[in-house]
Amino acid sequence: MPAAKKPRKSDQPTSLWENVNLQFDRAAVSTKIHPGLLQQIKVCNNVYSVQFPIKHGKDYVIIEGFRAEHSHHLKPVKGGIRYSEAVTRDEVMALAALMTYKCAIVDVPFGGSKGGVKINPRKFRTSELEKITRRYAAELIKKDFLGPHVNVPAPDMGTGPREMAWIVDTYDAFHPGEPDNQACITGKPFQQGGIQGRVEATGRGVQFGIREAFSHPEDLAGFGMKPGLAGKRVAIQGFGNVGFHAAKFLHEEDDVKIVAVGEWDGGIYDAKGIDPEKLQRHMKRTGSVLNFPGAKNMKKGNDVLFLDVDMVIPAALENQINARNVHRVRAKIIAEAANGPITASADETLRKRNVMIIPDMYLNAGGVTVSYFEWTKNLSHMHYGRMSQHLESMEAETIIRAIEANTGKEIDPLARKILLRSHDELALVNSGLEDTMRCAYRDIRTLMLRRKKVQDLRMASYALAIEKISGAYLDLGIFP
Ligand code: GLU
Repeated sequence: MPAAKKPRKSDQPTSLWENVNLQFDRAAVSTKIHPGLLQQIKVCNNVYSVQFPIKHGKDYVIIEGFRAEHSHHLKPVKGGIRYSEAVTRDEVMALAALMTYKCAIVDVPFGGSKGGVKINPRKFRTSELEKITRRYAAELIKKDFLGPHVNVPAPDMGTGPREMAWIVDTYDAFHPGEPDNQACITGKPFQQGGIQGRVEATGRGVQFGIREAFSHPEDLAGFGMKPGLAGKRVAIQGFGNVGFHAAKFLHEEDDVKIVAVGEWDGGIYDAKGIDPEKLQRHMKRTGSVLNFPGAKNMKKGNDVLFLDVDMVIPAALENQINARNVHRVRAKIIAEAANGPITASADETLRKRNVMIIPDMYLNAGGVTVSYFEWTKNLSHMHYGRMSQHLESMEAETIIRAIEANTGKEIDPLARKILLRSHDELALVNSGLEDTMRCAYRDIRTLMLRRKKVQDLRMASYALAIEKISGAYLDLGIFP
């Protein structure tokens, strides 16, 4: 698709919090919910901010952190902890709001929360990061902003299983011997009560969500896109945990051609396609995606967003496509793996230009979905499949034997493979995640097709979330 003309209107920079609320208001008019209740759903219930000193090299630095609890309509509240220099109170509130809507869409029974520590983790030693993480966790515990039944964090940008392990250990020190301590946080290492498939869950969910969007050819036709993922040219901005896994699964299992990858220090382009596993090994070795064999370097990593490809997947920060650069977008589909990568005004422009947007609050909900599985696993103190795995394989063998005895023929090898496939924890997690992503997309799509005022997937996602949350408030009897 050719790039559009540059808009004359100057960009009105809006924060993520403003963007989220603008989108909320746009969708709210399509519902019949009382304005007072809409206001209650929209506001952020509380934000806790902390500041503490840490010895950094020979100096002391003051570390600033936040934890926002957007909505208490369901408890515990849930959402990641991000380590980034861009963290602000507003950003954390907006990300917490997105968590509320995200959980509602995928029927994960949590309110939304988010935490952030304003640091660049690359600038600190591991021992310093451990001190920061444990102190931040201790501050949250003291104010009841962390606990299995109140507020359950998870990894986000700049954090991972290691930080989660420090946090669960800190929580355990404050609450010795309490049986549900492991459920105070998700995304833990497997040996610390984590679950198979959590590390890759957000990227897996992105793959399942894109697959589902591509399974409705009549929708794609409206955007001038042919069905079938195989051979589609895709550019990915951000090659962290989410970007890497989304690229890997789409490349390996759906035959998608990853033609470009952008990172903070530049991007790479190869029309023949990039193997994500090989690129990750290159990145680990050299510290950068640049100079990947066979690919051309691009000066600015963000420029991958504006390539002439079928689909762009922003998997980095918010506000990446905004009024200043939206005219440069040439892809027909934008699949939002990151939270809030498109500002409200850019979103409007893209809609007018008939670009299909698969919205963040649906597409990246795979992480929190598998977090929910981890949390329930921790509370039940038993791994998935423990009671059913053996029984199911015995049943499958009995069925195979019966069919073979009745027909006098060996069963088809593919049918045998399917019947005897393992129902271990990873298989169950992925099956639960796939089903969740498929059902949620269908709910969003049905709402969009049924309601005249709702014209796009983002508006439908907000409307669906708002209506589900309003139902929870009405059940509580807070609003008549
Ligand atoms: N940080 C992830 C998100 O933004 C995961 C949150 C969670 O698992 O609680 O969705």
